[in-house]
Amino acid sequence: MDTVVTDTFFLEKFADRTETVWTRSDASQIVEHHGAPTRAYGALYSNGPIHSMNIDRRARLPDDVAIDILYCGVCHSDIHMIRGEWGEQPFPMVPGHEFVGRVSAVGQAVTRFSPGDFAGVGCMVDSCKAGLEQYCTKGTTVTYASPDPRGPGRTYGGYAERIVVRERFVVKIPDGADLAFTPPLLCSGITTFSPMQHWRLGSGQRFAVIGLGGLGHTALKLAVHRGAKATVFTTSADKAKDAYAMGAKDVVVWQPAATDPIPLAEQMANRFNFLLSTIPLPFDVAPFLPRLRQDDIFVNVGAPGVIAGVSGGALWNQRRSIAGSCIGGMPETQEVVDYCSANAIRPQIELIRPDQIDESYLRVERKDVRYRFVIDLASDRIG
Ligand SMILES: [Zn+2]
Repeated sequence: MDTVVTDTFFLEKFADRTETVWTRSDASQIVEHHGAPTRAYGALYSNGPIHSMNIDRRARLPDDVAIDILYCGVCHSDIHMIRGEWGEQPFPMVPGHEFVGRVSAVGQAVTRFSPGDFAGVGCMVDSCKAGLEQYCTKGTTVTYASPDPRGPGRTYGGYAERIVVRERFVVKIPDGADLAFTPPLLCSGITTFSPMQHWRLGSGQRFAVIGLGGLGHTALKLAVHRGAKATVFTTSADKAKDAYAMGAKDVVVWQPAATDPIPLAEQMANRFNFLLSTIPLPFDVAPFLPRLRQDDIFVNVGAPGVIAGVSGGALWNQRRSIAGSCIGGMPETQEVVDYCSANAIRPQIELIRPDQIDESYLRVERKDVRYRFVIDLASDRIG
């Protein structure tokens, strides 16, 4: 049985609608209360606007941590999910898979957290695996829109005032960390840090990131901090100045549809040790593979669909590889949060209120965000 929205909510919200999304009887079937309802922000149907709504969080188990959420990032995946661009999804949906807050209560088996501690949650809340939780072959429980093995319904994400999460999936936020800047590290930070660790991006290596958005700008900052010589491929000429300010040595403005999409083709042949693509949509990688050096690698962390333009010859020539990487495990997620706090690596954010979420989605789609929106959920509680 799902736990979601009260039917009074439906009656109020849909009193003036001509289309029927759900009837009162549909709504009453999914209503189940476990104490006080939690205020959340989500969509009632695919591609719908973000509404304020009430959800029920599941009961706390002995190894669970309850968190009052303070800041939640807006990830491009939230938009793909709401829009139905990654296939059919369950609704209502409360997105949000990068957030921090203050621990309000802990179960008796919890050892790492106490009430009052700051804590963060990323893209996963349960898994069959330990260490590389994201590669659970039974299906990782993601932070929202997943069947919840610990609760009566589905998972609902961090666009909400509170949540209950298994301790093993909660990250400690170090003392002194900038809370508002921390949420993006729990998705874009770990997604770009993990392949750099796995394939050992080192000082002096030539690194390039393709796409300078939420993931890409975090990748750039992480690579520069490791001492890599970083190049940025971006389709937005007006981001070049920012890229240089973040430490890029070169910026290439490219257009995927152009016949010669990379104007500096000759100079960049056999140049890079590590190409990291953060582009969330399918694009042609043919221009990029010949830019890799011998034995070096192209890693996709963005596009979920077909990767076009992979030439067999471009791979066997210079023994190049193409690979993918999915977020990162919980130990590594803790590591990237600690590392960024200790080294003052901060994503660049724009703070918004919950009533600006719809607008923020449109701006992400227009590539008009520098570089991650973070929702200030406490502002709503005070206001
Ligand atoms: Zn994300």
